[in-house]
Amino acid sequence: MPASATGATPAARKFGAGRRTRLILLGTSGGPPWWPGTDRAGVASAVAVGDRYYIVDAGHGVGRQARDAELGNWSHDTDGPLDALRAIFLTHLHSDHTIDLNNLLIEGLSNGLARVTSPVQVWGPGDRGTLPPRFGPPPDPPVTAPDNPTPGTAEMVDLMMRAYATDINDRVFDTRKPPPSTLVSGHDVPIPERYLADPNGNPHPRMSPVPFYEDDRVRVSATLVQHAPVFPALAFRFETDDGTIVFSGDTSPSENLVEMAQGADILVHEVMDRDWAEEIFPEPRDTSAEGRFQHLISAHTTIDEVGPIAEAAGVRTLVLNHLVPANWPEHKFHRAQKNFSGLVVVGRDLDEFGVGAVLG
Ligand SMILES: [Zn+2]
Repeated sequence: MPASATGATPAARKFGAGRRTRLILLGTSGGPPWWPGTDRAGVASAVAVGDRYYIVDAGHGVGRQARDAELGNWSHDTDGPLDALRAIFLTHLHSDHTIDLNNLLIEGLSNGLARVTSPVQVWGPGDRGTLPPRFGPPPDPPVTAPDNPTPGTAEMVDLMMRAYATDINDRVFDTRKPPPSTLVSGHDVPIPERYLADPNGNPHPRMSPVPFYEDDRVRVSATLVQHAPVFPALAFRFETDDGTIVFSGDTSPSENLVEMAQGADILVHEVMDRDWAEEIFPEPRDTSAEGRFQHLISAHTTIDEVGPIAEAAGVRTLVLNHLVPANWPEHKFHRAQKNFSGLVVVGRDLDEFGVGAVLG
């Protein structure tokens, strides 16, 4: 185990009990590494409004974390937690944000999904449209699935159903439960075409938030953030009758995000420790190492950068998630507080934050 590892994640906390709208951090680890020495789950959050909830990103462990957060109604062991899930929102299609989407959609059949009253909508970025530029010296790496190399969210949901057809047909024939394809629906967030025109040249055009989802509990809007070469990379704003929660997704400092987060009760923002990046790519760096270092830094937000973003947006509480590295001591991330006049919380799995007035 690396010397930097911190052991078990510290205990979860409750900020503001007794509220109808709640943010629950289901997972706070950033990146695809299975960071040794920490039990933080992959990045995922829940927005609960009364007895319904929404999931934002579906990193490693999201289903079990929803169980441990006591979401859902659970009249029987196999009835929850997904019986109360309304929709899933994916900020981008990096695997650390999506790897357990298939778990929710497929094993979901035995964990409450069969009891939803309307299909769970899965929203996320559309097809990238073109492969990203090759980074680094030749030779070019091979392309996976050259006939369809950059599927978007709607197509990914369909492809997951196909990949798991053996299991789905077996269980549906056996139990007469409805097939998952009738219980979920995949959707691409409708970012206007003019902002999607140049993924490799201008992946972060200036834009204002676009509303795209509304039901009786939440209104959700999206904007493009800067996580190149991933594209589209989205941030989401959730508004309920009680207040506003904004999720940065993965991004370097983004003007689009600052606009979207204006006045939010909570900004949930990714963070990376620059010291870690410098440890991975120690000085002096040759041209190749410098390029890879800058590549990493330019796709994420460092501890020193995240406070001013929250300050510029005028949010009340800044919650840090997608911690990179996830196994470094929590106190290293506390430095974010020096650049922000509101409250900074370094997120822990299953931390809960109430929004709005206490229920009478
Ligand atoms: Zn990412």
